Amino acid sequence: MQNWPEFEAHWLAPYAMRGSLSKGRKHPEEPHPFRTVYQRDRERIVHCTAFRRMVGKTQVLVGRINDHHRSRLTHTLEVAQISRTAARRLRLNEDLTEAIALSHDVGHPPFGHAGEQALAACLKDHGGFDHNLYGLRRVDLLENRYPEFPGLNLSWELREAFVQHAKRRDDPAVREFWEVGSPLLEAQLVDAADSLAYGAHDTDDALGIGLITLQDLAGVPLWRETATPVLDKYPHLTPSGIRTAVIRDLIAKLVLDLILETERRLTANRIASVADVRAFPGALVGFSPKFVEQSAELGRFLRERVYRHHRVVRMAEKGKVVLTRLFTEIVANPDLLPDRHLRRVAAPEPTLERVVADYLAGMTDRYAREEHARLFHPEAES
Ligand code: MG
Repeated sequence: MQNWPEFEAHWLAPYAMRGSLSKGRKHPEEPHPFRTVYQRDRERIVHCTAFRRMVGKTQVLVGRINDHHRSRLTHTLEVAQISRTAARRLRLNEDLTEAIALSHDVGHPPFGHAGEQALAACLKDHGGFDHNLYGLRRVDLLENRYPEFPGLNLSWELREAFVQHAKRRDDPAVREFWEVGSPLLEAQLVDAADSLAYGAHDTDDALGIGLITLQDLAGVPLWRETATPVLDKYPHLTPSGIRTAVIRDLIAKLVLDLILETERRLTANRIASVADVRAFPGALVGFSPKFVEQSAELGRFLRERVYRHHRVVRMAEKGKVVLTRLFTEIVANPDLLPDRHLRRVAAPEPTLERVVADYLAGMTDRYAREEHARLFHPEAES
């Protein structure tokens, strides 16, 4: 095999996306002599500002509790790793899968879902806020890395992956992506890997900082069934040893189930091309019914015991206050906005409200808190 298209033709499953079939980029570019279209996408994501800022953005637990619970960035790397493992086994396009995984959370504002709720409330009468659409705007317009065009000029398929969960399907920014049918298998895979990863690592982090105990988890079937063989095999493990071993086995078990169930659905539905994937109305990538149910039970447990834990709620509420106050103050007094942001405001859009939300959504947790202190604590340096 001399070149990549030949390798793709030889290796990839018939339902995998091929770089040669890409709808391309908005601003045409010469093909790279040896990097594929999705390889370039992946590398553009890794080099962009929004990617690096994910190190300072909350996943679930706001920073400063300890130095090793997950941030958006480490969550993203775990999702990429899980997605690639499954993509290789399913012979999907690994470069595209990895690019989708690495970019899937770049649109999240600071302070996790609380931050998104705060911005959505601020923009209630100004078009709303959705991290998926913000992610797309971020890579299409707000990243500033090339003299030739705004944004990162990513491939159509990577841009499409941003909006598969966008709630507002009527938004003109996303309409073109709905017309092609169901998401590619690579995008569906990242979606499943994302939920697998956060279920496992939110449990891990919550144990690590003491929001829950191993005894609490004994009532959760997915945990119990995974933990029992570990405890039988290693009866003298410490609690932290149990935690690490069970989390590892849990991820391995779910990844295997995801691969097998996906293979089963692809075969049962006679999926033999990307066109078949596009035309199939439901999810082709997913977990078997047993694990869908067990993961949902773990999810309910996490919602009650972790996401609604007073320490988590307090951090989230503080984050909301920070963003809401910043938004209100800057909209009332636009001169507080750095020039390069203020210059973006134009009639009929983007409106001042949108530009301020774009500015705030790009911040890390730390930067937003410092900006809040600069504006509202008279003793802080401005
Ligand atoms: Mg995610």
